[in-house]
Amino acid sequence: MNELQKKDLEYIWHPCSQMKDYEKLPPIVIKNGKGVYLEDVDGNKYIDAVSSWWVNLFGHSNDRINKALYNQASTLEHVIFAGFSHEKAIELCERIIKVAPKGMKKVLFGDNGSSAVEIALKLSFQYHMQVGKKKKTKFIAISDAYHGETMGALSVGGVDLFSSMYKPLLIETIKVNGPDCYRCPYNKNRETCNAECFESMEKAIKENHEEITAVIIEPMIQGAAGMKMYSPNYLKKLKKLCDEYDINLIADEIAVGFGRTGKMFACEHAGISPDIMTVSKGLTAGYMPMSLVLTADKIYDAFYDDYETMKAFLHSHSYSGNPLGCAVAVETLKIFEEENILDTIDKKSKYLKEKIESTLLDIEYVGDYRQLGMIGAIELVKNKETKEAFPWQDRIGYKIYQLALKKGVLLRPLGNVIYFMPPYIITKEEIDIVVDTARECIEEYFSNNK
Ligand SMILES: *Cc1c(COP(=O)(O)O)cnc(C)c1O
Repeated sequence: MNELQKKDLEYIWHPCSQMKDYEKLPPIVIKNGKGVYLEDVDGNKYIDAVSSWWVNLFGHSNDRINKALYNQASTLEHVIFAGFSHEKAIELCERIIKVAPKGMKKVLFGDNGSSAVEIALKLSFQYHMQVGKKKKTKFIAISDAYHGETMGALSVGGVDLFSSMYKPLLIETIKVNGPDCYRCPYNKNRETCNAECFESMEKAIKENHEEITAVIIEPMIQGAAGMKMYSPNYLKKLKKLCDEYDINLIADEIAVGFGRTGKMFACEHAGISPDIMTVSKGLTAGYMPMSLVLTADKIYDAFYDDYETMKAFLHSHSYSGNPLGCAVAVETLKIFEEENILDTIDKKSKYLKEKIESTLLDIEYVGDYRQLGMIGAIELVKNKETKEAFPWQDRIGYKIYQLALKKGVLLRPLGNVIYFMPPYIITKEEIDIVVDTARECIEEYFSNNK
């Protein structure tokens, strides 16, 4: 353990960590980042194959974004956003509305993903109060959903690992069995099915619609659940039924937005527009904590009235509309447009697919392989025939993570799911290194743990 690591552990409580684990593997102190590489204080380099928790799009220390950030910092670092505005916020919102699913018309600011989810939940609830549907107070979410860590976001989450401890504190939410394509109870295939699994959602909506204000969902991919992917038909059916019963559809695009799935936003795979949409993570290409909530006109209109009617949305964050974040987000959208990023993603995701298929799929323990755009994942199982999972106590993901670090790749598996979600600037050669390293580490793990 070096001096910095000792000091780190003296003072810092790291996110999503059992701090005792760091006795054996202390936090790696990173000195600099460039492109897909991170370099630690001892000079070791790591390819960032998880985009630093799904946020980085164009590499670390990107020249264009650095410049945008620097220019903004020397002009205006921050200003109160109630009663005031600034050019970059205006430009950002104009740009994002242009590329968002049609029907998204107004933009609110949060300062991280979870706060965007809180805003979305509050908006939906207040919307129904103000249009006179006072019984509509509940949310529906699907199993294994992940929407963040604050109380409201946890309430609509379905990953027990994160939420079960806090159950007594959480808002009562209706949980519905969501798609589970690898272990599909209907024996269908996600590419060809008609989202037969929608029936549990349909039942929940039909039985409870008078009390439901919104359904919240991660479109196409349930990230934290282990990159669980499902059919766009599920979203089509959901949108239709929500409309029928005056239920708001909240699309949480925080992980999947900004090209990750091959489209700008994942909703496009299903050709739907939600009523409320949350974005963060890639919004600032991995630079700044910022989030946006996009809404349809009907939501906005229900809040627009004379002050005395008390219909305003009285929600704020100190850093709402932060100019540094806005400048970076504007540059991010410009890069998408000017450098044809969606074409790049299309090509690179095809290569990633080829590479995974030719390198990993013959491993005895690879039960499922799924990919959409630049997110590829394999699920390791004890038994391919029965799809029996490895016990979580084995901590396979964590052990493979440790092996890969020694070989210079930052993979951070989710349970028994190893996924690749690299920045879009990754080269073919670097994709090869990442996927080959994953293979070596999986083989090494299983040869040591027979
Ligand atoms: C990461 C994530 C969040 C929470 O965002 P934070 O910025 O970590 O609070 C919410 N929803 C989804 C789908 C996410 O992946």
